[in-house]
Amino acid sequence: MNKLVNDTVLDRLVKEDADEAVVASALELARSAFTAWKTVPISERSQLLRAVRSQLLNHMDEMVETIAEETGKVITEAIVSEVVVACEVLSYYASHAQDILHTRSVFPGLLIHKRACIRYEPLGVIGVISPWNYPLVLAIGPVATALAAGNSVILKPSEYTPKTGVLIAKLIARAGGPEGLVQVLTGHGPTGEALVRSGVDKIAFTGSVRSGKAVMRAAADHLTPVLLELGGKDPFIVCKDADLDRAARACVWGSFTNCGQTCMATERVYAVKEVYDIFLDKVLALTARLRQGNEPGDDVGAVIHEGQLGIIDSHLADALDKGARVAYGGKHVDVAGRPSIQPTVLLDVDHSMAVMTEETFGPLLPIMKVEDEDEALRLANDSRYGLNASIFAKDPRTIEKLVAGIRSGNVCVNDVMISYGIPALPFGGIGDSGFGRSHGPEGLKEMSHLKSVAEDRFGLGREPSWMPVPSWLSRAVKTGLRLLYRPGRAGLYNSTGQPLYVNGSRVES
Ligand code: NAD
Repeated sequence: MNKLVNDTVLDRLVKEDADEAVVASALELARSAFTAWKTVPISERSQLLRAVRSQLLNHMDEMVETIAEETGKVITEAIVSEVVVACEVLSYYASHAQDILHTRSVFPGLLIHKRACIRYEPLGVIGVISPWNYPLVLAIGPVATALAAGNSVILKPSEYTPKTGVLIAKLIARAGGPEGLVQVLTGHGPTGEALVRSGVDKIAFTGSVRSGKAVMRAAADHLTPVLLELGGKDPFIVCKDADLDRAARACVWGSFTNCGQTCMATERVYAVKEVYDIFLDKVLALTARLRQGNEPGDDVGAVIHEGQLGIIDSHLADALDKGARVAYGGKHVDVAGRPSIQPTVLLDVDHSMAVMTEETFGPLLPIMKVEDEDEALRLANDSRYGLNASIFAKDPRTIEKLVAGIRSGNVCVNDVMISYGIPALPFGGIGDSGFGRSHGPEGLKEMSHLKSVAEDRFGLGREPSWMPVPSWLSRAVKTGLRLLYRPGRAGLYNSTGQPLYVNGSRVES
């Protein structure tokens, strides 16, 4: 193990807030690590990702206990929603990075005497700023994509989960990651801001809308590109032909897993009037059976801290003030020393209430009766967020109408939140939920510098349009354009959009 990431140094970091000077020296080291890493073949970068996955499995108990201790989530959640997804993401990029990043030739269009290609090169040093709610997967995901693309990384984990961040760096070092390739700087918001202002080559930020806007403002000074994965207020639509048992189970899990502290949590439900009563009965019966605590076998853990509980309380109070009623829960509970709140089902809600429009990030499940699917869609889109949505229906036409009509980055059909567990699917939002994508080929390209290359093929002495411009050129171009693009012709493409020529030769259709 290298000296900068030995366990003692990393453990000390947990207690410190890194300041600008510390960030500057981390950046210097990261730049020198980048110089070496960018020349490492993609196949070897993939080997590192596989070795990190092995280290994660070897140290799985230490990882899940650290996550549970720092966040108050139940152990099963730490395994299922963090370690499993982390392994999947590491495996996906280890297997696909080569294919996603290979240089691609493109059709040069009218300029058939040219060669054209797109190259994907590393950006440099990536600053990864991560939140507390999934402290493993939301840190190791962007770190893994940054590494696979050939970058070095400085990770700033949440101030609530520094040990998990430090443990990630330890695993990468134990897996053979070279010195300085992945560094961890712990601290609060100002440490994150110092990282954004440090001159890193890109910031991959996951967190609240408020912090995301601050990150974007700070990044503007250096024109540092940003990937922003922000909050959500995800709608869940239950149509009249839905499988109500499955919908109710999905709704309860989607709303209460991680104690509701998930960016893709089910934060508001619209059930059409024909099935509302039956669906509600099923949800209430399931909610009543949930066990809250931090013992093995418990279903719902704790709220992270009192500040978060304050937000949840304020949404509950606002809803009750405006006429909502609690159908289940609503009381404060102590979960292993953390002040928390019970899984809570709210009825008689509407869009005048914060609980239907602002991100709650807690175990409140407001359910609204709607006239039909059209009203559900209208209300689902009545939001400044657009991260994820769930639709429960059977009729393919209803499903297609809702999938196409919903304004969000991700949609789950007869399912909930699961798109994040499929690493080949790009993940990200629209509106206040941010922009850019993690996961999938797009996630790797986010961490790459895209370079377009055009190359002359024949080495002629000159091009017709170079000066001095020949007198016949204008007339010839006008005639050529009229012939090529005459009505009914697709120019240099056939009817299926394929180029008519490749490398100067006509393609048989
Ligand atoms: P947060 O915004 O308070 O903190 C996130 C990270 O940003 C932390 O590391 C924090 O120290 C840092 N930070 C805070 N202010 C900063 C600044 N001015 N400059 C740079 N860094 C700064 O968010 P949180 O409370 O840790 O996480 C919960 C939020 O994250 C929720 O809104 C949730 O929806 C969102 N989230 C989004 C996704 C997603 O993928 N879209 C995933 C998980 C969580």
